Amino acid sequence: MSRHSFIVHGKLALPYQYFAGSLGSKFIRALRDEKRIFGTKCNKCNTVYVPPRSLCDRCFLDIRDNIQDVSNEGTVITYTVVNHYEDHYPCKPPFILGLIKLDGATTPMVHIIKNAPIDKMKANVRVRAVFSREPQNTILNISHFEPVDYSVFERGYTYEELEIGMSASFTKTITETDVYLFAGISGDFNPMHVNEEYSKHAIFGKRVAHGVVPQSLIAPVLGTKLPGLGTVAIEINTRFKRPTYFGDTITAIATVKEKIEEKKWVKMDLRFINQRGEIIAKGEAVVMPPTG
Ligand SMILES: [Zn+2]
Repeated sequence: MSRHSFIVHGKLALPYQYFAGSLGSKFIRALRDEKRIFGTKCNKCNTVYVPPRSLCDRCFLDIRDNIQDVSNEGTVITYTVVNHYEDHYPCKPPFILGLIKLDGATTPMVHIIKNAPIDKMKANVRVRAVFSREPQNTILNISHFEPVDYSVFERGYTYEELEIGMSASFTKTITETDVYLFAGISGDFNPMHVNEEYSKHAIFGKRVAHGVVPQSLIAPVLGTKLPGLGTVAIEINTRFKRPTYFGDTITAIATVKEKIEEKKWVKMDLRFINQRGEIIAKGEAVVMPPTG
């Protein structure tokens, strides 16, 4: 660059008006006045464009007059969570921006998804359009989309959604009550669990919990967290390393270790740790995750 050149920093204001076009205006009016969503259909390739387009970009046919209504409900193809803020955004972050394919449409449209738990959001959730109360002159005549059925957020992770390394845990203090209840359930009144005087002279020096009492803490992890609701346990193997004393607080941790493609099952690594950070047991589980 010549040393006689200068760089002048400044801001350029660029006010503009955008004409939605005759078809775009018709689309916005239908949203505003009739709460109706339509697309345009190409009769040659059967593509239904939503929002509508004048031309089929596959066949180059003029399709502006071939209006076709589509449903106010659709499926989230994918989504992103917006965490930064710009002045022109219609709502404050964080919010979900979804790619939504309405029933009857071929092409998906982008819109905001509200009233959905951000941390539990996933693809394939069914959503419906919520129309704005105040008339707008943009696509915001649809204020946002919201889930049709919230039970989908309770369902656990499917085989496809699970990734190696995903992890979840559950923690509970094992009390004398737990041990005596389990003795009653199982009939295992072994004195090492229920007789303190006997246990003083036995291997651990005091009463200990049955091994399956801490081991059973993996059930709420697999069944309600990871993979979660809908999971069926196929096999659980545990190797005990240390005893669990009354009052010990045990954390059961499950981590996705391997995906078994031919069965659509998942192998989970299991670890059980006490409040002193000692591993009391290790193991492996094979589970069948819920299907979508
Ligand atoms: Zn076409």
